[in-house]
Amino acid sequence: MNPKIGIVICGQTDNRQFVTTPYIESVIRFGGLPLIIPLTGSPLLLKQYVSLCDGFLFCGGADITPLLFSEEPAFGIGAVDLRLDQFQINLTKQILHHTSKPILAICRGMQILNVACGGTIYQDISLQPGNPFNHMQTSSDRSDICHRIDIKHDSQLYQLLGTSAFTNSYHHQTINKLGIGLNTSATTSDGTVEAIEMPSHPFIIGVQWHPECMLDTSSSMQHLFSAFIKMGIE
Ligand code: MN
Repeated sequence: MNPKIGIVICGQTDNRQFVTTPYIESVIRFGGLPLIIPLTGSPLLLKQYVSLCDGFLFCGGADITPLLFSEEPAFGIGAVDLRLDQFQINLTKQILHHTSKPILAICRGMQILNVACGGTIYQDISLQPGNPFNHMQTSSDRSDICHRIDIKHDSQLYQLLGTSAFTNSYHHQTINKLGIGLNTSATTSDGTVEAIEMPSHPFIIGVQWHPECMLDTSSSMQHLFSAFIKMGIE
């Protein structure tokens, strides 16, 4: 059987829960069996999803409720969904504490991973010190590149992508304080954290960009996805 990859829902609207199609297609493309993990408040169901799946994909989406990282809302914050945030943070903690299964956490997913480990985020990039540039690209094709990322040589990401890569960028929130056990593995020239990972686990990688939209144009992003799905077999 193909490795079962739990794709955690991206969000919910109008009484519907959804996952954006490129996440599903990316899992299939590299040999995974996509299973959608819906929002559930039941700890028992959550436990069963954790044991059922061989790997977990956390997707992009809305902002995270600041109270969950002990901050009041700042100007510049976008839409939040407290129940979804709590569910995704609980799920992440369950996976990290009870398994060594792989996680690929994309965009909001990376920020969920950081908050689940006790980290914080800048609610808007304008709150980040220094002179951050615009990370919300306006090009209509999501496979277009927007900025360069520099990758730390002692990271797992370096093994997959090398010294640097050009990526898309669709975020206005950024990592502030890193969560416990996490390392920064890539940054942009303005100091923005673009990737994180957890060295004590075989494969816990968070990326701020959207590799699932770059698979037709970037062999690097193919390596990243392929490595993630392969980890689900082991
Ligand atoms: Mn960016």
